[in-house]
Parts: sequence; C-alpha cells; structure tokens
Amino acid sequence: MRHVRRVCIYSGSSNADGPRYRAAARTMGTLLASAGIGVVFGGGRVGLMGEVADAALAAGGVVIGVITQNLQELELGHAGCTELFVVESMHARKLMMAQLSDALIALPGGFGTMEEMFEATTWTQLNIHEKPVGILNVDGFYDALLAWIAHARREGFIKDIHGKLLTAHAEPVELLRALSGADIPRIETWIQDP
Ligand code: AMP
Repeated sequence: MRHVRRVCIYSGSSNADGPRYRAAARTMGTLLASAGIGVVFGGGRVGLMGEVADAALAAGGVVIGVITQNLQELELGHAGCTELFVVESMHARKLMMAQLSDALIALPGGFGTMEEMFEATTWTQLNIHEKPVGILNVDGFYDALLAWIAHARREGFIKDIHGKLLTAHAEPVELLRALSGADIPRIETWIQDP
C-alpha cells in the first residue's frame, strides 16, 4: 500500500453547467480532508478547482495552491489556501504540483486539465516520477476518453503494461483506494528490437 499524504487535483477552471460536477468536486475535497490527505491544486478560486479547495478547507484539510504570477495578478488566486506558492511559469507550476504530491487525480475539466493529467501520466510512464494517476469519471464524463485509451492500446500506441497507469472510477472513495494500491510498472527497455 502506498502512503498517500498529498493528492494533486487537476480540474476545470470553468463553472460548468450541472450541479453533479460541483457536487463531485466537493465530495472529493471533503474526502481528502477527512482522510488527513492534503490537497495540492492550481491555486485558483474559480470553477471546480475552487470547489475542491473550499470543501477541503471547510472540512479542516490542508490545501496547497501553486499558481503563476500571471494568474495571481488576474486576481484568480484562492485567498484561503493553507499555503499558496506563486511561481514564474506554467512549467514550474506543474513540476511543483507533481513534486508535492504522492498521487494525481483529474476531475472533469477542459484543455488545461487534460494537459496536466497526461503530462503527469507520461512522467509516470517514463519513470520520471512514480506516481499513480486517477480519473474521477463523474457521470461518464470521461467515457469517450477511456474509449480512446482502449483504442490506442488495441492499435499498439499505448503499451499493455502502461494500461494500468491511469485508473478511473466514478466514486471518489473507490478511486482513492485504487490509487493507494496501484502498482507502477518499470520499463527497462523502451524500444524493443523487432
Ligand atoms: P481547464 O481544464 O482548461 O479549465 O484548465 C484547468 C487547469 O489548468 C487547472 O488544473 C489549473 O491548474 C489550470 N488553470 C487554468 N485556468 C486557471 C485559472 N484561472 N486559475 C488557476 N489555474 C488555472
């Protein structure tokens, strides 16, 4: 069992329609706080990311934000974080978010969420870090993405041993349990001779 002290949450910065996304974000924040697990996130007060942070803080949890100077100046930073790091660039931000965390979870979101989630996954794939990545599949939001991953595996673009790099669940508690027990495959030989 992996000791998960902090989880990085990637999630949409928009206020998407549908209370189910907000409810799932709040459930995730509350769950992490009550399990004594710190939340690392992009430091914004907007969208689902703000919901996760607010819920975790309301439940007495530790919330660490990592935001760029730029976004902070746009007054999008969350003022209530336990700690808010302000960094120079998006690259520095993503590195720090990953380094502070033992596991990473994507909630529903858009381009930013996808980009962060897949970067974290490829870093695990390359053993740059050894951190499990999870997808909270709220109401089937990620079904189409999971179908694409299955397709890419069938077509040979994602190795079978990497199929387990991403774990998806509809329920926050199940997802957290799966990530705590996740095995990270090590690749000794990347390109095999035919
Ligand atoms: P998106 O899914 O396109 O809404 O992008 C959300 C992700 O990108 C989050 O996980 C954040 O790390 C980052 N991000 C995008 N917009 C903001 C913002 N206004 N404030 C803070 N982080 C943001």
